Amino acid sequence: MLSKEKLFIGGQWVAPSGREAIDVHNAGNGEVMGRIPAAGERDADAAVRAARAAFEGWAGLAAAARADYLQKIAEGLKARADELARTIAQEVGMPLKLAGRIQVGLPIANFGNYARLLRDFKWEERIGNSLVVREPVGVVVAITPWNYPLHQITLKVAPALGAGCTVVLKPSEIAPFNAFILAEVMESVGLPKGVFNLVTGYGQAVGEALVKHPQVDMISFTGSTRAGKRISELAAQGVKRVALELGGKSASVVLDDADLPTAVKSTVNGCYLNSGQTCTALTRMLVPASKYEEAAKLAAEVAKGFTVGDPLAETTKLGPLSSQAQLERVRNYIRKGVQEGAELVAGGAEPPEAAPAGGYYVRPTVFGKVRNDMTIAQEEIFGPVLAIIPYKDEDEAVRIANDTVYGLAGAVWSKDEARAQRVARRIRAGQIDINGGAFNMNAPFGGYKQSGHGREAGVYGLEASPATSFRIS
Ligand code: NAD
Repeated sequence: MLSKEKLFIGGQWVAPSGREAIDVHNAGNGEVMGRIPAAGERDADAAVRAARAAFEGWAGLAAAARADYLQKIAEGLKARADELARTIAQEVGMPLKLAGRIQVGLPIANFGNYARLLRDFKWEERIGNSLVVREPVGVVVAITPWNYPLHQITLKVAPALGAGCTVVLKPSEIAPFNAFILAEVMESVGLPKGVFNLVTGYGQAVGEALVKHPQVDMISFTGSTRAGKRISELAAQGVKRVALELGGKSASVVLDDADLPTAVKSTVNGCYLNSGQTCTALTRMLVPASKYEEAAKLAAEVAKGFTVGDPLAETTKLGPLSSQAQLERVRNYIRKGVQEGAELVAGGAEPPEAAPAGGYYVRPTVFGKVRNDMTIAQEEIFGPVLAIIPYKDEDEAVRIANDTVYGLAGAVWSKDEARAQRVARRIRAGQIDINGGAFNMNAPFGGYKQSGHGREAGVYGLEASPATSFRIS
C-alpha cells in the first residue's frame, strides 16, 4: 500500500485538518493501491498562506539561482524514474515502458529544459524611456488531471517556479502518488519552505477553496471543460488570472493524395495512446469518401494489433482505462455509436477477452461511416474509440474538422507538404501535426474555443508572467 497521510505545506509534512481519506485504485486490477488525505478549506488556507509568505524571498532570487533548483529537481526525478514509472503505470494504466518514456521522461526533460530557458529568457527590455520587466504573477494554484499526471503538473510548476512564483499544487485524486514523489524531491533539493506546497483531495472541496482564496493570484488548470467553466466563474469573483487546458475532439484530415496506410496507422496510434485518454487524441479520422472502404479496413487491422493487457506486462499495447467511472462512460459511448447507426468496424462495448480480472479494460474500437453530428463525433469519449468520417472534398473536410466546440489539436496528411500546410492553417486548433511531425516540447501547447485559453510549454509558459513598466526620466 502506498498510503500517504500528510500534506506538504510550508516545507513540512503536516497532518490534514480532517480525517477523511480517498482510496486510489490500481487501474490494472481494480484493487485499492493506497489512500491519500481528502484535504479541506483549512488546509487550502494554510498552503496558500505558506506560499504567500515565501513569495517575496523566492521572487527576489536571481533567475539563475532558481534555474539551479529546477536542474536539481530534474535530477531528483531521474533518480526515482523507475519508481515513478511503476506508480503511474498502475494509477493511470499506461503500459510500463511507454509510461517510463512519456509520463516520466517528459517531466524530467521539461524541468531540465526550463532550467536552460530561464537563463536565456528576456526578463527585461527597454522600450523608449520605459524599462519593461517580466514579473512573477504571485501565488499560483495548479490543479491537474490524471491522464498525464506528472507531465501536466510539470508544465505548470516548472515555469511558475522558474518565473519566481510560489505554488500550491492540487493533483488529481485518481493519480496522486506521483505528486507525492515530486514533493519529496522538492524537499530533498532544499527548496525554500513554502515555495512549493502539495494538498490533495476532491476538486469541489479543496480545489474550489484554493480557487476562491483571496491571496491566490492565478489558477492554472488542466482538466475537463465542465470543471474549467466552474473554475473560471469562481476566479472571476476575485478577478484572478486563469489559464485553462481543457478537452478536445481532434480531427486527422487525410487528403486524397496522402499515403493512406501511413496516415491511418499513425492516426489510430494517435487515437489509442494512453488508451485514448489523451486530450490531443486524434479521435476523428476524416477520409475522402472514395477511400473510405480501404481506410476502414486498414484501421481495423491496426486496432487488432493493440493487445489489451495489464500495464505491467511486457506484451501489453493497450492498458486499461484509469477508473471504473471511465470504463462505464466509454462503454456507454460505444453503445451510443451503435444506436445512432455508425458502422462498428472493430471492437465493441463487451469486455475484451482475456483481460485481467477487476481492471478497467475496454476493446480497441473503430466506428466507420460516422456523421459529424453523431454523439461519438461531437463529445470527448476519452477511450480507445476512433470515428471515421467520409468527406466529399477539401472544403468539406475543413468544415467538418472545425465543426466542434473544441479546438485543441489535429493532423493533416498529404504528399504535397504545401497543400497540407494550407489546409492545416484553416483548422482552428492549437497544434496540428503535418504528415506525422514529431512532438516538440518547446512548441506552444493550448487550444481555441472550449479547449481553453493560455499557452503552456517552452518559453510560452514563462510568457504568462505579466509585464510591468518603469518610466525612466
Ligand atoms: P476533471 O476536470 O474532473 O479534474 C481535473 C482536476 O480538477 C482534478 O484535480 C479535480 O480534482 C479538479 N476539479 C474538479 N472539479 C473541480 C472544481 N469544481 N474546482 C476545482 N477543481 C476541480 O478532469 P479529469 O477527469 O481529471 O481529466 C480529464 C479531462 O482533462 C478530459 O476532459 C481531458 O480532455 C482534459 N485534459 C486536457 C488537457 C489539455 O492540456 N488540454 C490535458 C489532459 C487532460
